[in-house]
Amino acid sequence: MNVFFDCDFTLTGVHGGLRPYVREAFEAIIADGHKVYIWSGARVPWDIYEDFGLEDLISGVYFKPIEDHHASLKFLQIPVFPDFVVDDNVGPVEAFGGYVVPPYIYVKEPDDHLLRAYRHFKAWVAGEAPASNLPS
Ligand SMILES: [Mg+2]
Repeated sequence: MNVFFDCDFTLTGVHGGLRPYVREAFEAIIADGHKVYIWSGARVPWDIYEDFGLEDLISGVYFKPIEDHHASLKFLQIPVFPDFVVDDNVGPVEAFGGYVVPPYIYVKEPDDHLLRAYRHFKAWVAGEAPASNLPS
């Protein structure tokens, strides 16, 4: 599966720091035989790719569609299909399935939402969880 992570407020917080458990979640997804990609609706997020030593884990870096999500994949030259997306906005998760995390704003509070996203992904792959954590 191709697992796409939003960047701003999903992987990084208000002051630009990395959210807890980014590397652990990426490593777990890859260890299970899947691939990790990052994307952003604001830019192609090479800054996230380069600034946090995650290059060994990320298979692609892309501009994220902010509307018309499926049709935009070709225009944005995204060569693989996002099977599961993790985002602090509902739109991409509604479009592709995945897991909505709260925006990473309260950076001093305990935060395990990326581990929760991984556990939901793993359960979905096993057929034991719905395609997203959105209310059905
Ligand atoms: Mg975001």
